[in-house]
Amino acid sequence: MSYIQEQDPPDKSCIFETGPGKKHEKESLLLCRDEKTVVLLNRFPYANGHLLVAPSRHIADISDLQPDESAALFDMIRESVAILRKNNNPDGFNVGLNLGAVAGAGHPDHLHFHVVPRWEGDHNFMTVLSEVRTIPEHIESTFDQLLPDFQKLLKSNGKKI
Ligand SMILES: [Zn+2]
Repeated sequence: MSYIQEQDPPDKSCIFETGPGKKHEKESLLLCRDEKTVVLLNRFPYANGHLLVAPSRHIADISDLQPDESAALFDMIRESVAILRKNNNPDGFNVGLNLGAVAGAGHPDHLHFHVVPRWEGDHNFMTVLSEVRTIPEHIESTFDQLLPDFQKLLKSNGKKI
């Protein structure tokens, strides 16, 4: 109960609160929602398969995470990397956090990690940030491609893919 009482009223426009109660929703690019975490496919990706992994709770700062939320969040980041590795065969990843609008957070009120697959010869990450982004694969096909593995993940109760 203390969780619920401490929680700010969710911002209706917060992308991490879209499709409430749903585990998956293509319209909002919601790949996975479990008890403590949310995974969205970024609508404005830096690279194909760019994911946003967030705690379910609407909190802005990393220091507001409870220990069980931290553990769940990191587990989901690990699983997301595994799913992207399996489906998109990247050569590497950028996994990162922007805290605050000044640091580049697009949704500064709701903490979220970026999981960005990288390929040999793609653009430098920081260069890509300031450029018009061209994504070769349509975002909906990426969603369809990744969804089955996130569905499997929820069914397996968080066991590794
Ligand atoms: Zn939120």
